[in-house]
Amino acid sequence: MGFDPVELTSEFINVPSESKISNVPVSDLVEERMVACGLEIERLEFTDDSGERKVSLVGRKGEGTGGLAFMSHTDTVPGQERDWAAFKAVVKEDRLYGRGSCDMKGPLAATMIAAAAYDASQLKKPIFVTATADEEVGGAGARQVAQESKFFNEAMPTMGVVAEPTSLTPVYAHKGSSNVIVQATGKAAHTSTELGVSANFLIAPFLAEMAELCKAVKTDARFMNEEFSPPTNGFNMTINDYGTKQNVFAASSTCHICFRTMPGDKSEELVAIIEEKAASHGLQILSSHITQPFYVAPDSDIVRIASEASSNKAPATVPYGTDALQFHDKPIDLVILGPGSIEQAHTVGEYVDVSQLHEAVDVYKRMIEQVCL
Ligand SMILES: [Zn+2]
Repeated sequence: MGFDPVELTSEFINVPSESKISNVPVSDLVEERMVACGLEIERLEFTDDSGERKVSLVGRKGEGTGGLAFMSHTDTVPGQERDWAAFKAVVKEDRLYGRGSCDMKGPLAATMIAAAAYDASQLKKPIFVTATADEEVGGAGARQVAQESKFFNEAMPTMGVVAEPTSLTPVYAHKGSSNVIVQATGKAAHTSTELGVSANFLIAPFLAEMAELCKAVKTDARFMNEEFSPPTNGFNMTINDYGTKQNVFAASSTCHICFRTMPGDKSEELVAIIEEKAASHGLQILSSHITQPFYVAPDSDIVRIASEASSNKAPATVPYGTDALQFHDKPIDLVILGPGSIEQAHTVGEYVDVSQLHEAVDVYKRMIEQVCL
């Protein structure tokens, strides 16, 4: 099988697949190349909220149960094409440039080429390669795979690699998220009449308390985890009065509190404090939910295998989230491991090191040999 990871990644980059558009064109190409890599294909589809058709692919090679799954997404963040040629792959020196080069069409290509190196008859356990939709906007594609994929749920791979860029360092934990949305309801009226009530003044005392809480959270060990850098939860607040003009009392004002959850932190307690303060000011809680962080024991088999395959790099944690969260209720142990630096993801001039792309193919092959042969 003569695929080159730079060529394959370039082909994928050249088909735009920002999350807001349909990923059918790029998925059709990925499917064709997966077939050429000897994978059988399951195709899952849904229509997103703006009516765009979205596809997630599950490729499989080999029979039986258990095995190793490689997980990638085909959507990207916007190209920002005014600033560079985002959808025209270019190699300069040791770098491949283009939107998705590291996040994560390059990693996807590397996993496919690693799978291509083995014949189905050699495998004692199956290999899976997924290419899902909408990771950058909530993970609906991976969620659909976790819930509906026949390939996946029949075989139930016991180990997996989320191939997001980690500079080929195995990652065993990342933060989750917590969101609380609070609203004040006033009464709209022209200010000349004095007949309205500004929702902004109703919510202001709560906002002042959130400012104090933010300061406290940054130094309170209960809301930190020293395994992460930074160890704090990125407590943030956005506010919206829906563009109310200066001469109008705002009818409603919404505050969205968001922070990142970590293993062993007191996220539930923090959410309870926020809800309690909102209630004490007579505000309405529109929604409140916690997404648990991703965590697998650093001495588990999957982390050990990943570490051995990547020249014994010590496992680490990262502060950002991945599709690993969509598989939290499945009996699969995941590690995050991919070529390219997360610092390149989402940037103008995104690139992946060509040498790392090639190295990734070898790392993934060593993992396949450990788990599936
Ligand atoms: Zn990504």
